[in-house]
Amino acid sequence: MDWRARFPDVSERDWRDWRWQHRNALRTAEDLGRVVALTDGERAGLAHALGRTRVAVTPYYASLMDPVHGSCPIRMQSIPLAGEAAEAPGDLRDPVGEETHRPARAIVHKYRDRVLFLAVDRCSVYCRHCTRRRITFGADAGFDRDAIDEGLAYVRAHREVRDVIVSGGDPLVLSDERLDALLGGLRAIPHVQLLRVATRAPVTCPMRLTPALAALLRRHAPLFVVTHFNHPVEVTPDARAACEALVDHGVPVENQSVLLRGVNSSARLLIDLNERLLACRVRPYYLHQGDLAEGTAHLRTPLEAGVAILEQMRGRTSGLAIPHLAVDLPGGGGKVTLSPDYVLGPGEEGAPGHWLRSWRGARHFYPEPPEADCTCPHEAVYYAREPAEPPAGEGDA
Ligand SMILES: *Cc1c(COP(=O)(O)O)cnc(C)c1O
Ligand code: SF4
Repeated sequence: MDWRARFPDVSERDWRDWRWQHRNALRTAEDLGRVVALTDGERAGLAHALGRTRVAVTPYYASLMDPVHGSCPIRMQSIPLAGEAAEAPGDLRDPVGEETHRPARAIVHKYRDRVLFLAVDRCSVYCRHCTRRRITFGADAGFDRDAIDEGLAYVRAHREVRDVIVSGGDPLVLSDERLDALLGGLRAIPHVQLLRVATRAPVTCPMRLTPALAALLRRHAPLFVVTHFNHPVEVTPDARAACEALVDHGVPVENQSVLLRGVNSSARLLIDLNERLLACRVRPYYLHQGDLAEGTAHLRTPLEAGVAILEQMRGRTSGLAIPHLAVDLPGGGGKVTLSPDYVLGPGEEGAPGHWLRSWRGARHFYPEPPEADCTCPHEAVYYAREPAEPPAGEGDA
C-alpha cells in the first residue's frame, strides 16, 4: 500500500527526510492504533513495554504493516507482544556474554583480530528480537563522546585488531558529521584494515542512505555495510534504492537475518528474501539463530528448524543466496555455524572414501585421493618473502 494512503497529511519532502522519520516515530498504542487494528496481544505487549523497553517505529516502516493481520512480519518485529513479559528457562540479560569481554564501554573484544565498536544506544526502529536489548532498550547508560574516545584509544592500543564492526544500537542514527569523525578516527589507525558498519537503516529508514552518506562511507573504504533484512516484504523500492546507492558508490552490502519463529522461519520466505537481496546486489551473510535475550523466547526457533531450512534451501536457489546459520554461544564463546550433514559414512573395505548424499537425497561416493599429505611446500617460501609486519596504512584517508 502506498504510504500516502496511510499518512495523507505528510508532504513528500518530509517523508523523504530521515530526521522527520525519526522525529515522527510511532511510540504508543495510540500512535500505532492509528495505522493498524491492534490485537489484544499487541495491546498487552505495549502496556508491558511502557517504562521498561523502548518502542519506536518510523512512519516508513509502519507503512509496510498489514493493517488487519497481527501475524504481519513487520508488526511482529516492531510492536511488542505479550510474550515479551514471559520468562523462559535460560534467558539471559547478557545473552552472548559480551559484558565479560568489554574492556571499554564502547568495545566488545571476543576474537583476537576483530572488535565490536558500540557507537550509540539508539535505533530508528526498536526490533523486538534485539539481542542487545539491554543496551538499545534504554537500560544501560548511553555512549557519549568520552566512551567513543576511550573506544578509539583501545583500538589504537591493540595492534592485533584489524577489523572493526561499528554497531550499537544503529550507528546511522548519528549525523553524517559524527559518523565521519568516528570512521575517520578508526581509519587513521594504521593496523585497522577493515571497517564494517552494522545498520538496519536500509530496512527501517531507507531515506537515511543519501548519496552524500554513501560517498562518505566510500571514503573510508574498505568498508562494508552490514544490514538486517528479515522478510521479503521489507525489500521495497525504497530499500532497494538505498542498497543500490551504497553499492553504486562502491560500498559492498551484506545482510544478516535473524531467524524468527512465525516471521521468517520458512525456506520459501528466506529463498524469496535472499533472491530479492541478490537482485539489489546485497549478499546474504549470516542467518542468526535467536540469542537467549530476555523477552524474546516467543520469537525463537529450535536449532533443528534452522538446519532443516538450510537443507531445504541447498540446491533450490543460488549458492550465493544461502547464508551461514550462526549460533552465538551463550556465555561468550563466540559464533559457530551449523549446517546439514551430507556425509553418510565411510566407504567399504578396500574402497577408501566417503558416501555423501546429494541435496536430492541420492547416494554418491567420493573416493580418497592417492595422497593425504596437504602441506603446501611453497608456503614457507612465500611468507619468508613477505614483510614481517602487515602492510600498514593502505586505506589511509
Ligand atoms: C559477530 C561478532 C564479530 C564478527 O564475527 P564475524 O564472524 O567475523 O562476522 C566480532 N565480534 C563480536 C563480539 C561478534 O559478536
Ligand atoms: S536495529 Fe539492530 S540494534 Fe537496533 S533494535 Fe534492531 S536489532 Fe537491535
